[in-house]
Amino acid sequence: MGGKTDDGLLRLARQDLVAMPPYAPVEPPDVLAKRLGIPEERLVKLDGNENPYGPSPRAREAMARYPNYHIYPDPDQRRMREAVAGYVGVDPERIVVGNGSDELLELTGRLFISPGDAVLNAPPTFGIYEFVARTYGARLVEAPRREDFALDVDAMETALAAGAKLVFVSSPNNPTGNAVPPEALERLLAHDAAVVVDEAYAEFAGGSFVPLTAEHDNLIVVRTFSKWAGLAGLRAGYGVFPPAVAETIRKIKMPYNMNVAAQAAVLASLEDREALSSNVERIVGERGRMAERLTGFPWLRVYPSQANFLLCQVQSRPATEVQSQLRERGVLVRHFDAPGVRGCIRISVGRPEDTDRLVDALVEIGAGVA
Ligand code: PMP
Repeated sequence: MGGKTDDGLLRLARQDLVAMPPYAPVEPPDVLAKRLGIPEERLVKLDGNENPYGPSPRAREAMARYPNYHIYPDPDQRRMREAVAGYVGVDPERIVVGNGSDELLELTGRLFISPGDAVLNAPPTFGIYEFVARTYGARLVEAPRREDFALDVDAMETALAAGAKLVFVSSPNNPTGNAVPPEALERLLAHDAAVVVDEAYAEFAGGSFVPLTAEHDNLIVVRTFSKWAGLAGLRAGYGVFPPAVAETIRKIKMPYNMNVAAQAAVLASLEDREALSSNVERIVGERGRMAERLTGFPWLRVYPSQANFLLCQVQSRPATEVQSQLRERGVLVRHFDAPGVRGCIRISVGRPEDTDRLVDALVEIGAGVA
């Protein structure tokens, strides 16, 4: 065969991609269980903001019964778009569905970013925005959040006025848990730029910016079935776009970008909203109880959250140490070392028994800490 090593061939590749830092996703539980020597069912998985109650039983049934796995999905996504449009209350022509909301973020980047374009980001936030900007060769402009994690709207407006053409904001934000106030969003929308609001956790916060899409032709809202509907592993997300943008995104996406199992699960989930909403309510209730329990540890500072996770600043010891001590006890959380969230851990809200295991582990490792 031709060359000697793969590395040799990389000389022909885009060097900005070769040099790009990797995105750090969460590791699957079976891999971690093996590494830790703990049975998988003993792991308390609070590191991926997943829904501990899983999919609706009707979604499982719909997938089991689905008769046409040998037939390609509808590339125009007609049934899906109609169902999702009904859920969020917009016209189906505004909707594009995809392989997780990640894919809609990626497609938005594909449509708007030419190499060298300025893309605005407000860290600390979800890493995929920077990842998308970099994979399309954007010039990343950052307006760091304020100490309380509010957007620095003045700095963002300066960047937009200077030509940033695409901006990503998450509401509620991952990993900080706070939502974007409508006044802040209105200020961003007043600029000549595409404003992407990522509402992955909106169902845990209540409220949505989707109705504003009727008034603003530069607003894009991206949402997912991963969190509230418990379908993270199936990959099902969607975006609400201005109609002409939606049409163009459908044109540039891969034709069969959402598999039929995910489509069957989404349709059934939307018909089982009551059961799924009661899971969301359980998680929101548990978020309150967990925040109360964690506030009892004087060495943890718990930030308020409108999502299905809590961000905690670890005081008087390294957050990595706490993360690994929790991991040794089978409790998985995420730790952060980026500016703004240095020394923080993010803990997904699980079931009451998961909170209890977490608290027991924190009591053990916190003994003797002031
Ligand atoms: N946006 C935010 C803010 C997220 O935290 C996540 C998941 N971690 C996503 C989007 C991606 O969700 P999906 O599973 O739909 O790709």
